[in-house]
Amino acid sequence: MTERCDACGQEIPIAGGIANFWTMDSTETGGMTLELVDGTEHQLCFDCIEKLPEEATVEDVAALDESA
Ligand SMILES: [Zn+2]
Repeated sequence: MTERCDACGQEIPIAGGIANFWTMDSTETGGMTLELVDGTEHQLCFDCIEKLPEEATVEDVAALDESA
């Protein structure tokens, strides 16, 4: 299955299975759901996650969209 990155709109391959989730194995997935400091959750690709500051807010996610 795939999800779309909330910031850049790129399709993210999501590997199924709770085991994969808990091991944080990033080799089969292109992104993850990130909970920001303001409590919102965003499905983001790793490219965008890398660009976000340490304590990202929804505004930082929106800023990524504008720069894409
Ligand atoms: Zn992205």
